[in-house]
Amino acid sequence: MSKALNHLCKTLKLSVNEIDYIEDKQFPLKVPQDFLEQITAGDLNDPLLKQVLPIKAEQAVSDGFSKDPVGDLLKNPSPALIHKYHGRVLLIASPKCDIHCRYCFRRHFPYQEQTNQRHWQQAIKAIAQDSSIHEVILSGGDPMSLNESILLGLIKDIEKIQHIKTLRIHSRTPIVVPSKAPQDALLDWAKHSRLNKVMVVHCNHKNELSDKTANLLEKYRKNGFQLLNQSVLLKDINDTSEILVALSHALFELGVLPYYLHQLDKVQGAQHFEVTDTKALELMKQIRQQLPGYLVPTLVREIAGQPNKTPL
Ligand SMILES: *Cc1c(COP(=O)(O)O)cnc(C)c1O
Ligand code: SF4
Repeated sequence: MSKALNHLCKTLKLSVNEIDYIEDKQFPLKVPQDFLEQITAGDLNDPLLKQVLPIKAEQAVSDGFSKDPVGDLLKNPSPALIHKYHGRVLLIASPKCDIHCRYCFRRHFPYQEQTNQRHWQQAIKAIAQDSSIHEVILSGGDPMSLNESILLGLIKDIEKIQHIKTLRIHSRTPIVVPSKAPQDALLDWAKHSRLNKVMVVHCNHKNELSDKTANLLEKYRKNGFQLLNQSVLLKDINDTSEILVALSHALFELGVLPYYLHQLDKVQGAQHFEVTDTKALELMKQIRQQLPGYLVPTLVREIAGQPNKTPL
C-alpha cells in the first residue's frame, strides 16, 4: 500500500478493502493535507474524496474519450505557451499540482516536456513580439505550486511588456492547499502593479472552502485581485441544483464570482464523472431560477480547434 493511501485511510478512518482502489503510477493518488482535512471521515461518498481517489471505474474505455481531448498537444508552438484564443495566451508556469484531480484533462499531458523554466524566456520573447496579446494567463498544472520568488520573477518579466494589460492566474492552490499558497511577495507586488489582476480559483463544492481559504482569498482581494471561480460539473459530486446554488452563495461570501462551469473534458479515465448535456442544461435552468444573474456561471465546453470556450 502506498504511503499516500495509507495516510488517507488512516486519517479518514477507511479500510482499503472498502474502496475500489487502483494504483495509477503515471498519475498517482495525491492529496494535500489541507484538502484532506475538508473530507468527512468514514464517508465513502464524500464529494471531495471522490475527486481524488483513483478507482477501478477509471479503467473503463469509452468511445470519444482520449488522451488529449482539448487539442493542446497539437497547438503548442513554443513548449510553455499555448496561444489558442485571441488576445490572450496561456503560459504553462508549472507542470505540477499539489493535488491530482481524477477528472483532470492533463492527466496524460507529457509533463516532462513542459517542465523547463528555460522555456519561459522563449515564451516571454514571443509575447513581447506580438502586440495583439494583452492578457497573459498563468496556468499549468498549477502556477501557484511554484516557489514564490520564482513565480514573482516570472510575473515581473510579464509586467515589463507594455502591451500586456492583464495578468490572470488560474490556480487550485488557494482552495486545496491554502497553507502553501504564495502570499507576502505576491501581495506586495499586487498592491503596486500597473496590471489588472485576475485570479481564477477552482472550487467544485462548497465543502472545499475552509477558513484558511477564506482568509487567503480576502488578502488577495484586498490587494487588488478580481476573484473568479471555475468548476467542473461532476457526476455524483456537484450535479444537483442544490449543490451548485450553495456553491455560488458560498463563493460570493468570500468575494468570488462564479465564472465558468465546465462540461468535463473527455479524457480517458474520467468517463464515470460525465454528466450529459441534457442534464447539464436542465441544471442551468434550475439554478438560474434560484440565483441572481451574477451568481450564475456560464456552462461551457472546450472543443479542440474552436477559437473560444463554447457555451452550451
Ligand atoms: C481557457 C483558456 C483561455 C482563457 O479563456 P477565457 O474564455 O478568456 O477564460 C485561454 N487560452 C487557453 C488555451 C485556454 O484553454
Ligand atoms: S489542480 Fe487543476 S490542473 Fe491540477 S490536477 Fe486538479 S484539475 Fe488538474
